[in-house]
Amino acid sequence: MTTPQIHPSVDNGVHPGKESFAGGTLTCQCRDHPVKVRVGAQTAHNHVCGCSKCWKPKGALFSMVAVVPRDKVSVVENGDKLAIVDASATIQRHACKACGVHMYGRIEDKGHPFYGLDFVHTELSSEQGWSAPVFAAFVSSIIETGANPANMGAVRGRLNELGLPPYDCLSPALMDAIATHVAKTRGTLYTGA
Ligand SMILES: [Zn+2]
Ligand SMILES: [Zn+2]
Repeated sequence: MTTPQIHPSVDNGVHPGKESFAGGTLTCQCRDHPVKVRVGAQTAHNHVCGCSKCWKPKGALFSMVAVVPRDKVSVVENGDKLAIVDASATIQRHACKACGVHMYGRIEDKGHPFYGLDFVHTELSSEQGWSAPVFAAFVSSIIETGANPANMGAVRGRLNELGLPPYDCLSPALMDAIATHVAKTRGTLYTGA
């Protein structure tokens, strides 16, 4: 069997990020009047994602997506080509109407654990040094968009080989962060008493 094509940015090995890196410009795939989005900071929690909502490049089983503070994200060119893919979704993905690429995802619910962070695909930038992906999220979900369930062992094996531990939700650190936010909201957060 051939090696599963996870994502073009990791299929030949994961490139480490640069600590001093301070951001770059994301460009959609349009030849004419591409949408450009400036990301003015290094990203965090970069990962590959198997969910059916994230934008994936052609032929890839996973998307690659990271977060950055929303005040560091600004549309700098051809913003009139952007539209929200699904306004009812928790993450409002702003995509180019012409080429379909998602330029940034934004959470407008102020009570959401990840409010204040935008989701971006740093592969859309030509700059090198973005934070490297560190895990794989929603791995089982690739089956929902047509991946062969019988190949999941090979997919998880490849992810482990690439140093991207596979999870069927988010990573334990992010699941803990979400649960901590919920506990704070409910007043049930452990206080050491
Ligand atoms: Zn475009
Ligand atoms: Zn996703």
